[in-house]
Amino acid sequence: MTLKSRLEEYQIVPKKSLGQNFLHDPNALEKIVTAAELMPEDAALEIGAGLGQLTERLAAASRRVAAIEIDTRFKPALDRVAAACPNVHIIYQDVLAVDVAALFYPESYVVVANVPYYITTAILRHLLETRHRPRRLVLTIQVEVAERLVAQPDDMSILAVSVQFYGRPQIITRLNRAVFWPRPDVDSAVVRIDTYETPPVDVPDEAAFFRVVKAGFGQKRKQLKNALGSGLGLNAGQTAALLEAAGVDPRRRAETLSLDEWAALARNLAALTAGGN
Ligand code: SAM
Repeated sequence: MTLKSRLEEYQIVPKKSLGQNFLHDPNALEKIVTAAELMPEDAALEIGAGLGQLTERLAAASRRVAAIEIDTRFKPALDRVAAACPNVHIIYQDVLAVDVAALFYPESYVVVANVPYYITTAILRHLLETRHRPRRLVLTIQVEVAERLVAQPDDMSILAVSVQFYGRPQIITRLNRAVFWPRPDVDSAVVRIDTYETPPVDVPDEAAFFRVVKAGFGQKRKQLKNALGSGLGLNAGQTAALLEAAGVDPRRRAETLSLDEWAALARNLAALTAGGN
């Protein structure tokens, strides 16, 4: 049965506002599950189960699956999946309202999702900033966003710095829009993010690191001496001292900095504040 006829069977007209573009290509679904490298003892979290085509594949590859779906129109279809796969548990809620850490703590878990694109960055933040992070995330997202996640210095954004602080992102494969129904207006990519147990750079505390990063990116295309000064409430002398101590040229812009350089700024800001300057 085709995906289209299954949707018709359940009288579901896809809602664009909920990012409902379904993957109907079995090869693409297989690629996603393979990229997750699930072990039989793993727990998996799926976001946006839809009709459950990915859910049932995850159920076969893991010990248990918690699948979140906001739209209860999928309940009859997902009830069938849960009846056939007793290790599947469906949660009908907005993913952003679910305490994911509490769902899995202290278990290790992997997130696999064909993400509703309208909340991609909110989902990334929700999953990465939680107190019990997933071991790995395999996400199908818009190709342009995938490229932003794996960007390197010169093309960095606050999103790239944030994601790369928590894990190592890589693009696994690109997916043509034709593998979805209804066909979206954009192409997609499958991204895998392996999270770190400890941050990849030496920072005094996470909040300080992100305070500096936010200040740096706070004013588009401004040189760091201006962006950091106003963002952190420092005078010109303090900003110059901070940048010099971190070994960063004050004329550079936020997009050019590496994670190590942001960390050096965060460490020196802590020292500057402690020194009462
Ligand atoms: N997993 C299916 C697939 O691969 O074909 C569906 C993916 S579709 C791109 C995104 C799914 O996320 C839809 O089923 C949609 O209803 C659901 N969704 C949208 N917003 C959501 C939210 N805030 N919380 C949970 N699920 C959401």
